Amino acid sequence: VVELKEVHKRFGAQHVLKGISLSVHKGEIVAVIGQSGSGKSTALRCMDRLEIVDGGEITVCGHKITGESPDLSSLRRDVGIVFQSYNLFPHLTVLQNITLAPVHVKKLSRHEAREVADRVLAQVGLEDKRDAYPEQLSGGQQQRVAIARSLAMDPQLMLFDEVTSALDPQLTGEVLKVIEGLAVKGMTMVLVTHEMAFAYKLANRVVFMHQGQVWEEGTSQILKNPVTKELQEFVG
Ligand code: ATP
Ligand code: MG
Repeated sequence: VVELKEVHKRFGAQHVLKGISLSVHKGEIVAVIGQSGSGKSTALRCMDRLEIVDGGEITVCGHKITGESPDLSSLRRDVGIVFQSYNLFPHLTVLQNITLAPVHVKKLSRHEAREVADRVLAQVGLEDKRDAYPEQLSGGQQQRVAIARSLAMDPQLMLFDEVTSALDPQLTGEVLKVIEGLAVKGMTMVLVTHEMAFAYKLANRVVFMHQGQVWEEGTSQILKNPVTKELQEFVG
């Protein structure tokens, strides 16, 4: 589903991704971990072409996104991305937030979009909040709406960038439960996370980034038995 080959990214003089190679197969859950500034978010954003790379090749959901004029609208239809900040539209209700893209991008009828919204709201456990405005919800609930909004596009791949780091432990648990539910359904996911216990439990593969490189990679066992000194220090 995702293939990165020797991807390089620079911001000015700063070389942020130094030849990242990574593949994610259908149904896989990959956790990306590493210190602040190691390039995790940049790598994730490259997968949705929110950043344009300076070298290397990226294919996501069958779309080659590093070539000339990639089809961004079909890429964005296939890929859901959720950030630490929920970015809900404050002046729209939960239902309106969720149905916006299905109606305008996927051209579903209002009726179809409402049905989809009801399904994804049930999936994140917020059926009773469809008419609420974002400011009336807790952070955890807002984040679950943000996830539901992505799911409403029926993505093949979900990218999560530290979606719980702004939340207190209880709300974090609610959001992680939703992600676990997606895992049970076989969703392909890449999660940038600081939640080591969660990564250990859920991830089929863990990728440790250090200074813009994939420094160590393996099953979640690498968290228990890290090989490199850098990962030892990171988990220790
Ligand atoms: P964190 O755990 O703090 O989220 P990260 O691993 O996600 O860190 P990135 O956000 O990918 O790190 O950033 C990697 C480096 O690239 C950092 O040094 C950052 O300052 C730099 N960087 C990221 N985005 C930009 C940008 N738009 N312009 C300039 N520099 C950037
Ligand atoms: Mg980041």
